[in-house]
Formats: sequence, C-alpha cells, structure tokens
Amino acid sequence: NSSLHELDPDVAAAVDAELHRQQSTLEMIASENFAPVAVMEAQGSVLTNKYAEGYPGRRYYGGCEHVDVVEQIAIDRIKALFGAEAANVQPHSGAQANAAAMFALLKPGDTILGLNLAHGGHLTHGMKINFSGKLYNVVAYHVDEQTNLVDMEEVERLAKEHRPKLIVAGWSAYPRQLDFAAFRRIADEVGAYLMVDMAHFAGLVAAGLHPSPVPHAHVVTTTTHKTLGGPRGGVILSTAELAKKINSAVFPGQQGGPLEHVIAAKAVSFKVAATEEFKERQQRTLEGAKILAERLLQDDVKKAGVSVLSGGTDVHLVLVDLRNSELDGQQAEDRLHEVGITVNRNAIPNDPRPPMVTSGLRIGTPALATRGFQAEDFREVADVIAEALKPEYDAAALRGRVTALAAKYPLYPGLK
Ligand code: PLP
Repeated sequence: NSSLHELDPDVAAAVDAELHRQQSTLEMIASENFAPVAVMEAQGSVLTNKYAEGYPGRRYYGGCEHVDVVEQIAIDRIKALFGAEAANVQPHSGAQANAAAMFALLKPGDTILGLNLAHGGHLTHGMKINFSGKLYNVVAYHVDEQTNLVDMEEVERLAKEHRPKLIVAGWSAYPRQLDFAAFRRIADEVGAYLMVDMAHFAGLVAAGLHPSPVPHAHVVTTTTHKTLGGPRGGVILSTAELAKKINSAVFPGQQGGPLEHVIAAKAVSFKVAATEEFKERQQRTLEGAKILAERLLQDDVKKAGVSVLSGGTDVHLVLVDLRNSELDGQQAEDRLHEVGITVNRNAIPNDPRPPMVTSGLRIGTPALATRGFQAEDFREVADVIAEALKPEYDAAALRGRVTALAAKYPLYPGLK
C-alpha cells in the first residue's frame, strides 16, 4: 500500500513534472480541458478494480451492485443533459464511440459520407488508414474554397450520387456551426442514418450556447474530456429504437469490461455540466475565442502574413492560417511553446505543406476558461499570441506575460 512516490519515484516524478507544466503554462489545445478534482478522485477510485461486463442490472459478473448505481446515474444524467432517449456511457474513448456506432449501423463495405480530415474532419470519419477507412467505402465532403464553410451543396450532391448508408456530421477543426437540420434532410432523402460527432462542441450544447444535434440525428457521439470538461472517454446517445443495437455494438461488439471508475468520473462531470457555473464558463470560452479571432485579424498581424480561417469563430476555437506567413505550422507551434502557450499545428483546407508540418494552428479557449480567464485575460493572451507570431518578437517579455497570467489563476492549488 505504498504511495506512488514511494513505490515508483520515476513515474511519480513525471506526473509531478506534468502537473507543474499544466500549472505554469497556458493550455490552448482546443480538445483539452482541466477536469475538476472530484472527477479525478472518482477516476482514481477503487472502481478501477471491478469487472462489470454487461449493463446495469444485466451483468456477467457478481458484486456489481455499486457500479450499477454509478453507471445508471451516468446514463440518467447525460440523457437529461442532452434530452436524449438513450445513452451508452461505456465507450473508452471518442474513437471507440464512433467505431461502436458505425459497427451498430453498418456492415463492412457500406458507404459512409464524412468530412475530409484535412478540411476539419476526424480520423474516424473515414481517414484511409483508420478503421473507418479500412472497413467502409468512404466518400468525403469538403469546405468551400472561398468561404471555408462546409459545402452543403456538395454534401447533397455526393449523397445523391453515392447513396451512403451513414452520413457523419461533426469535426475536430472547424470554427463554425453546422446545419444539423439540413444534414438530416439530406440523410432522409437518400435513406441514410445521420450520426453527429459533437466531441468538440458538446460542452457548448450542454450549456445551450450551440444548436443541439440530438433532435436531428439518429446517433450522437461525443468525448467527455473536451469542452464537456470530464474524464477522457466517450459516450453514444441515440434514439430509443437504436439503443439495443448500440448497446450490443459496444459490448460485446467492440469492448470487454467497462471502465467503471471512468464512468463514475463521467457521472460527476455530467452533474457539473448541468450547473449555472458551467454555463457561465462556456460563455467565457466563446467570448475568449472571439477575442482571439478579432486580435489575430488586426492589421499588425496581417502584415506578418497571419490570418483567421473563415474570418472568425462561433465556437471554442480559432483556426489560424499561416499560408502567407514566414512561419509554418510546426514553427508557429514551437514559437508559442517557447513563450509558454501550448497549441497544436493543424492542416488547413488545401494546405500546401505536408501533414507533419502544416500551414495552420488550432487554438482553443476551453482550458483557460476553466482556469477562470475573463475577457481582459483573453485580451492579454490574444495579444501575446499576436506578438509571438510576428517576425520580431521578444521571447523573454512574452514568457513573462504568460507567467503572470498563469500565476493569476492557480491551477489545482491543492495538488503538490
Ligand atoms: N471525434 C472527434 C470530432 C474528435 O475531435 C476526437 C478527438 O480528437 C475524437 C472523436 C476521438 O476521441 P478520442 O481521442 O477520445 O478517441
């Protein structure tokens, strides 16, 4: 019963160093967030010891009376949060939620229509060497070259031409909202299922600050660790009619024993997501992203060849276009890392550079909003980013401003 530090100082030292990194830098990877201590407590609990194949009340193992309570709470809370008829909270991740949903609705060789990876889609929406690209016949839609918005005319045309069994709407890198009703109309016209992957914007939906896909889609998948702010994991919401198919696709179709400790942590995060405090945080998330986009559209930044895809944002992230900058995506990511801001480089539509280099950055505000950032703090961090992306920049001065912002909002002050 030794502590981590006693039993394994090597791993403990790396965990401590990661805590320090999170505390002393500014996290702006759009898919990341800071889970509350209570969520981490549930995730670090004795529930990790329990096997519970099956579902609440129908398990293949004894001793499940307590994990049944936990899993049912998680199911009830997320159904209420999104107004869904059915929920499966067992997927270990967003990718596995998508794999299970497709496994439930499709047979190998069926056609799916999803957003191209380089245009903002996710690997699981049909990338060539992902399971989705290997198992299914993939047709991809794109964003319009001029507007950078999803080209719904192309979606309709491709749907009519290829008659997919499943249309996937959702994204990993897209700064605007999708028209879920239009997707559903097209799906109905060609007899396809509509699956919306709301992994990125689920927190905004929960707060009522983004249209909900739930009334429009047959199936909605999400991760629980992005804007939703919970533990790493996945969830599948569906109509009551599809619930049985989805459940059997998750277990025994794709997974064995559910991670009940993670499901407990999901339940806690769903409770948080139903609060006014959560809504207020999502408002600051959106406000922060708008402030960042506006700063990066100003003339001094434009002069450095930096601009913002689609001219702004309606969500929690900004896509920075570096095609005319002297910096490529890798160099810009490194530059921000140098001043203490963590972001990721990101391919932009029709990117002239290779995927490991890219000509874009994806910058998100959820983690800083969770940390407590207000509009004035987002203005300061936006200015630091703007200055850092110019040819002449003062790394030490910018790093100092980042350190001051980090110190203003201590992260996990109770953890050492
Ligand atoms: N779906 C979307 C839209 C995502 O952006 C991601 C992750 O980035 C996933 C699914 C996959 O989630 P995970 O990394 O938990 O497998």
